[in-house]
Amino acid sequence: MDQAVATPTEQLDLGLALPWQNSFASLGPAFYTELMPSPLPSPYVVGVNDALARELGLAPDALRSQAGVEAFTGNQPIAGSQPLASVYSGHQFGVWAGQLGDGRAILLGEAHTAAGPREIQLKGSGRTPYSRMGDGRAVLRSSIREYLCSEAMWGLGIPTTRALMVTGSDAPVRREEMETSAVVTRVAPSFMRFGHFEHFSARNQLDELRTLADYVLDRFYPQCRSTDKFAGNAYAALLEQVSERTAAMVAQWQAVGFCHGVMNTDNMSILGLTIDYGPFQFLDAFDPGHICNHSDDQGRYAYNKQPNIAYWNLFCLGQALLPLIGDQDLALAALESYKQLFPRELELRMRAKLGLPDAQPQDRELIEGILALLAADKVDYTIFWRRLSMHAAGEPASLVRDLFLQREAFDAWSLQYSKRLSTESAPQMLRTNPKYVLRNHLGELAIRQAKLKDHSGVEDLLALLQAPYDEHPGHNDKAGFPPDWATQIEISCSS
Ligand code: AMP
Ligand code: MG
Repeated sequence: MDQAVATPTEQLDLGLALPWQNSFASLGPAFYTELMPSPLPSPYVVGVNDALARELGLAPDALRSQAGVEAFTGNQPIAGSQPLASVYSGHQFGVWAGQLGDGRAILLGEAHTAAGPREIQLKGSGRTPYSRMGDGRAVLRSSIREYLCSEAMWGLGIPTTRALMVTGSDAPVRREEMETSAVVTRVAPSFMRFGHFEHFSARNQLDELRTLADYVLDRFYPQCRSTDKFAGNAYAALLEQVSERTAAMVAQWQAVGFCHGVMNTDNMSILGLTIDYGPFQFLDAFDPGHICNHSDDQGRYAYNKQPNIAYWNLFCLGQALLPLIGDQDLALAALESYKQLFPRELELRMRAKLGLPDAQPQDRELIEGILALLAADKVDYTIFWRRLSMHAAGEPASLVRDLFLQREAFDAWSLQYSKRLSTESAPQMLRTNPKYVLRNHLGELAIRQAKLKDHSGVEDLLALLQAPYDEHPGHNDKAGFPPDWATQIEISCSS
């Protein structure tokens, strides 16, 4: 029931020095359907990411202007863009789902920005040929969650797609209840997913599969063309590179306590970026088996399953690339890099959290020991690490000890840790253990405010999350324990 709106005549000047390039569009119509976004009535600004705008060389004022809001809601074309929805397939919850595709995302094109070429995509901008039963829309609550979380991940130093802006409209959208619409402008070097490759491989469209792989190789992994490994097989080298990037990304998720919630192969980026923020959650109490997605009955995507699921997904990618790699042993050898790298990356990240720059044999025991204690006492994950960092910086030990029920067990661990810590250089732990993460209840409070058209909560949180290691005096309430009602928040795939 989208209504056409009066189109403004003002031309949007984004302040971009160079024209759009739209390299994905140049691959040809086998990969997408060209179409225009569907307008939404009377759009308004929910949030503008000034920091990202500046990084890209865009004028934040242009984004906030009437023309900017119309353009990034999909109501007004942007000169040089070439809007399209791409086709992909994927495995959802472990089952082959066949064709999916951009059901509610429209790629505007690829802009030459100050930070390099960046794809700019609208999410929630209307139906596409890949919408299946969906309405092509995104609701305000999930759009705010994606906007804040992608920037929170960026602030934490975790590879991710980014979010430039959110606009809202009072146009109703039916979910479990009636809600209102929003559009998130997402930005990434590429939104290509494992599922893009699975799509053409499953259909035995090997020319298209090769075109896609060559595109990704040439643009993002050119070093694979000149590899000595894998008998010079560039496609095996590509699989290895993606495996390595995915290992590094998931290790960072685990270290910070991030649960993605829907690690389907269509939600896995070929660039190793965190993508498609849905029912994600940062852990409150440390519970290794935590399931954040209310629709995930079996707990397939529980926090402690993520590392194995990432490998399972890479295996699907390996299978999809097999016609190009041409040798199963090479594909398996490329995938092996994940198994080698993930534990190393995780240990690196956990040692950084403990303030231990150099590896020693007893570190694994120290890491496993503290995680077991945190799990046994269900200690708040973020608060524990931040307090440990404050203690290392001179605050009293009781700050940390008081978090535990089993104090003697903690004391025993602490003794081992302090022996180990004293042999290292001064810890930089306040830069490796964030004070602020996007806990569910923080997002929820900002969303409730935004539903009343007060967007200041979104803006305030964005500022904290983009610099999560800083103290931000006056915002301690957002670094505290979650309220009791936080455990009642149910986030499902509905968005
Ligand atoms: P997700 O689980 O959000 O990654 O979505 C899986 C697939 O469903 C993708 O192809 C999405 O584009 C599509 N999809 C999800 N929600 C909608 C919607 N409201 N309208 C159209 N397509 C949707
Ligand atoms: Mg998705």
